[in-house]
Amino acid sequence: MGGVSEIEYKGKTIFQFQTFFCTFATKISSYPHFVMQDAPHHAGFVSIIGKPNVGKSTLMNRLVGERLAIITAKAQTTRHRIMGIINGDNFQIVYSDTPGILDPKYELHKAMMSFVNQSLEDADVLLWVVDASSINQSEVALILPRLLNIETPVFLLLNKCDLCKPEQLETQRAFWALQHSFAEIIEISGLVGTGTEELFQKILGRMPEHPAYYPAEDVTDRSERFFASEIIREKIFMNYEQEIPYACEVLIMDFKEKEDIIAIRAEIIVERESQKGIVIGKKGEALKKVGIQARQTLEEFFGKKVYLEQRVKVEKDWRKHDLKLKHYGY
Ligand code: GDP
Ligand code: MG
Repeated sequence: MGGVSEIEYKGKTIFQFQTFFCTFATKISSYPHFVMQDAPHHAGFVSIIGKPNVGKSTLMNRLVGERLAIITAKAQTTRHRIMGIINGDNFQIVYSDTPGILDPKYELHKAMMSFVNQSLEDADVLLWVVDASSINQSEVALILPRLLNIETPVFLLLNKCDLCKPEQLETQRAFWALQHSFAEIIEISGLVGTGTEELFQKILGRMPEHPAYYPAEDVTDRSERFFASEIIREKIFMNYEQEIPYACEVLIMDFKEKEDIIAIRAEIIVERESQKGIVIGKKGEALKKVGIQARQTLEEFFGKKVYLEQRVKVEKDWRKHDLKLKHYGY
């Protein structure tokens, strides 16, 4: 018996069977992708890039069909790289939703950018999402230089086409065609679903012949704790103004799944005492509201009753300190 095996992809070990070889061994009989079959199997990585708020998370959720990345109207909610995986009889596509490309101002931003750069190198196809309803020249200068030295095919996606007039889309198409030799320029609406089937077919056409990278059961590489913290963060974004959401980090200190309930203990980290006061609110009302909304979404997400305990803690200037960021998993 082999005991340990792993898949190397472009020099990186992306999947180690060692840690759960026992479960893998029992799954292999019900797992067709590692078995020789007639039709060739295709698999690959697709990275979704673009400025904050252009609709990357919405698109990935549509492509994967699960609520994986949190979606809000405020920028920069997707701080980590999130993967969503879809499987078919003869294919597997691994999508990653990246933090919006931006100018790094804090250490946190720099850490976010390293996720972005990594996903550019790993990808078989890049989806560069732009908001076709508002021309924004700054993203050309910000993103294009990163694409010049890579050979990965880039699809330019004119998103939010549901908000655009046909002439506007023509102008956009002409503008973008001049910027770079894109493999495709496609008009889509991640929200409504326009063009996403065509997009899927074009992505599939670019997937190299390769066995599946992940077991078919896996929908995402992120842990339940990660989703719990993202959901709480989403509610913080919905409930507080200005700098508060950006000053908060949510740590899941405890995640205990019992038969009928999941008990979650979360710490909301802020940078200053004054922010702690705002997050908690008068008589604890603000935090209570976040808690109620988070619990509701957590229960929908996990399909189980949730008991949620929240605490607010001050970690002075956590965004600026590299060491603390490492502790928080960036
Ligand atoms: P991200 O920051 O790039 O991940 O953007 P999100 O997916 O979080 O979307 C930002 C905002 O744009 C949300 O309010 C979405 O509902 C909205 N949005 C995303 N895609 C579309 C679209 O195709 N049409 C319209 N009208 N709105 C969209
Ligand atoms: Mg996002």
